[in-house]
Amino acid sequence: MTDKIVKTDAEWKAMLDGMQYQVTRHAATERAFTGQYWDHHEPGIYTCVCCNTPLFASDAKFDSGCGWPSYFEPLNPANVIEVVDRSHGMLRTEIICAVCDAHLGHVFPDGPPPTGLRYCINSASLRFDPQD
Ligand SMILES: [Zn+2]
Repeated sequence: MTDKIVKTDAEWKAMLDGMQYQVTRHAATERAFTGQYWDHHEPGIYTCVCCNTPLFASDAKFDSGCGWPSYFEPLNPANVIEVVDRSHGMLRTEIICAVCDAHLGHVFPDGPPPTGLRYCINSASLRFDPQD
């Protein structure tokens, strides 16, 4: 699809705030119930904070109770990439932005219908674009 966006570490650091930078470029995880969007229910589109690629729609957001924004499907599957993550002694599936490789969060097989998936995403890796 679209071309990759590639920036140096210093360029990312200059354009992001501290939490956004640590989460998206170094796969940090924001503390549960502290992010901007875990309890956010407005209609709209959540885009990548680094490159503005549309990632998730409010229609697919659900209240998982885990303290992070959770979605049962990406807006466009081509816009996210799944990566096997063996960090922290766990086997998880990491989700990254297909355009700029930003770390977004993880996907777990315990979500609601229709997909049964839970995309557990850091607020710090998202930007909200409200829509009517
Ligand atoms: Zn991105």
